[in-house]
Amino acid sequence: MQLLIQPEKKSIGRYIKFCIKNNFSLEVDVDLLKKKHYFNVVKVVVVHGGNFFNKEADIINEIKYISRFHPKFIIYHDEVLEKLSKEMLKIINVYLLKSNIKLLIENIKYNKYNQFKKCFLSIKKYITNVGQCVDFGHVYLGGGDINDWTKKEYEVAHIHNNDGISDGHLSLSEGVINYCELNINLQLASYISLEINCDYKSYINNIIFLIKNKIEPFKFPGDYLNLDFYRKIIRKKILNNIGVYKNNIVYGFFYGSFSNKKCHDYSDLDCFICVKNNFNDKELINFHKQNCLELGFVVDNDYPIEIFHYQDVKKTLTIKDGEELSLDQEEIIKSHLMKSEFIIGDKKEYLKMKNFFYENYKKTVKRNFK
Ligand SMILES: [Zn+2]
Repeated sequence: MQLLIQPEKKSIGRYIKFCIKNNFSLEVDVDLLKKKHYFNVVKVVVVHGGNFFNKEADIINEIKYISRFHPKFIIYHDEVLEKLSKEMLKIINVYLLKSNIKLLIENIKYNKYNQFKKCFLSIKKYITNVGQCVDFGHVYLGGGDINDWTKKEYEVAHIHNNDGISDGHLSLSEGVINYCELNINLQLASYISLEINCDYKSYINNIIFLIKNKIEPFKFPGDYLNLDFYRKIIRKKILNNIGVYKNNIVYGFFYGSFSNKKCHDYSDLDCFICVKNNFNDKELINFHKQNCLELGFVVDNDYPIEIFHYQDVKKTLTIKDGEELSLDQEEIIKSHLMKSEFIIGDKKEYLKMKNFFYENYKKTVKRNFK
């Protein structure tokens, strides 16, 4: 399951950059396709077609235009499609088959599933490649019942919130819909498309809301721990929190699956901290465990964090080539040789150690370092 981003016209450049960095695809409104150059760099999975046509033939021209962007789906509202003649539906069918695009019907007129299904079946009679897009905001307009829409077949889910009366496309946390309880309804979709009317910053906050509440498509940590923007949040949070220990820390860094962007559902957060003498380890260990829990990492209870005193790290530098290493020494060297991300402290000191271990020990240590 994937998240689709719906960019706003006024700050489309920022949305596109965000998609590239985090490997998200797009759902775009047909009007936005005029900004062609953006859609060479990010995949357009869904195009939302227009809602009004002066004459019937205009819709086929629009579909022809959209097909140049090779989306997987074209979405039209139920009320748009049900107005078309069967002759026009047949023409659309031929064209969709030729261009290998699936038509999705989105609920807006009907908030009861049975009515929507009836409309869907009347169109399906003429269109071979057709499916459903459930707009969860629209389900709740005018007192629709969500239980009515459970376990239905659909490819795309539109998510946004409202007051139950007007179609405000509000943030997920602002309205009558409790998205924290909707995973069972969302989990059958292949794509979850975030359809919020707001500024760029609020849009990103809505994605964070999905992550924090473990709502599809971010139900499991593996679904979000590798996202570029969320990694920045993790780093910032730990940096902020660890600030109170700043005077006791020489340097610290992340390594392992987090640094390699290979986090999965059971990843812990490998963190090496080099501390000054006379340091109370217990407090830092509890602090690290708390961070892991909050951010979605598994807590490794045996070795939650590598804490070494500066003198011990320095002592490791004096080991001679080929000499048998203690487990602690091996751990120190291994951590420094892996791909890592600097998080806190004296960067020069960290690089000095890293370079030293790299030059002198890489060949002699028997384990594989990646
Ligand atoms: Zn929608």
